Amino acid sequence: GQIIAHYGRQVDVEGTTGADHDKQYQGKVHRCYMRANIDALVTGDKVVWRPGPDGDGVVVARLERENALMRPDTRGQLKPVAANIDYIVIVFAPEPYAHANLIDRYIVAAESTGIEPVLLLNKTDLLNADNAPRLLEMAERYQNIGYKVLTASTVDEDGLTVLNQLLDNRVSVFVGQSGVGKSSLVNVLLPGINLRVGELSEQTRKGMHTTTTAMLFHLPDGGDLIDSPGIREFGLWHIDERQVAEGFREFDGLLGGCKFRDCTHRQEPGCALRDALEAGKISPERFESYHRIIASLDEF
Ligand code: GDP
Ligand code: ZN
Repeated sequence: GQIIAHYGRQVDVEGTTGADHDKQYQGKVHRCYMRANIDALVTGDKVVWRPGPDGDGVVVARLERENALMRPDTRGQLKPVAANIDYIVIVFAPEPYAHANLIDRYIVAAESTGIEPVLLLNKTDLLNADNAPRLLEMAERYQNIGYKVLTASTVDEDGLTVLNQLLDNRVSVFVGQSGVGKSSLVNVLLPGINLRVGELSEQTRKGMHTTTTAMLFHLPDGGDLIDSPGIREFGLWHIDERQVAEGFREFDGLLGGCKFRDCTHRQEPGCALRDALEAGKISPERFESYHRIIASLDEF
C-alpha cells in the first residue's frame, strides 16, 4: 500500500497491487495503526500492511524510500514530510516579481534531494511587453541548462494539457513563492479540493497550518500530487557549499578544474568556472546567483 495521509500514530493506507496482494484492497483506503517498531511514516511512503476486522488495519513494514522531502521541525531537526516524489515543480510568475536567485535556491534545494526540478511559468495571461522579454529569457536559460520548463495560466487555461501530460504517472509537488498561483493550480488540476486561493497569508500559514498533514491526491488525468502548506515552504535548509555547487548542473565537471583546490571562483587565477563564464558556457546570471547563495549560507 501507499500512505496518502498521516495523523499522528495513524495513517491512511491505499491498497496497491503487490505480488501476493489481494485485489479487493486495490484503491481502497484503510485507516491504519503503525507497529511500534516502525519510525514515522510520511505521505508517499510505500508500506506492507494487513487489514483488520473493522475496515482498519496495521502497517507492519515500510519499504525503502527513493527520496524524501525534508524540513526542520520545531527543534531544528530535519524530518521527512513526504517521500517517493518524481517532480518538484517550481512555480514562478510575472507577479509577484520573479527573482532568478530565488528560483535558483529552489533548484539547489530540489537537486539536493535528488528529485527532478521542473520550472513552471504561471500566470502567462499577465505577460506583456514589459515583463515578457525578461521572463522568457529566464525560461530559456533554464531550458538551456537542461531543465523542463512549462507555462500555464489558470485564468485562460493556457498550458494545462501539457502540464497534465507531465504529471501523468508521476508524483509531484508544487513549490514557489507565496502568490505565484500554487493553490489556484491545484484547484484547477483537482476539481473539488478547493484550497482557499490567496487567503492563507505566510503568517497564518506559519502559525496554524504547517502542522497540517501532507496529502496525496490522484489527478483525474493520471499522476498524483502531494500537497500541504509545509511542503510549499520547502527551501534551503542545512545546505553546505558543496551541495550548492552540485545544485548548479552546468558547473558539473568544471569545479575540479580550478588551479587551486580551495578556489572560491572569484579572483583566483586558473579558475575553471570563470573561464567557462568568459567562454559563454555559464550564464552571468547563474554565476552571480551561485555566489549570492554561497554568501547567504550563514543565514540558514
Ligand atoms: P499561492 O500563494 O502560490 O497558492 O497563490 P494563489 O493560488 O493563492 O494565487 C495568488 C493570486 O494570484 C490570487 O489572487 C489568484 O487569483 C491569482 N492567480 C492565480 N493564478 C493566476 C493566473 O493564472 N493568472 C492570473 N492573472 N492570476 C492568477
Ligand atoms: Zn574556481
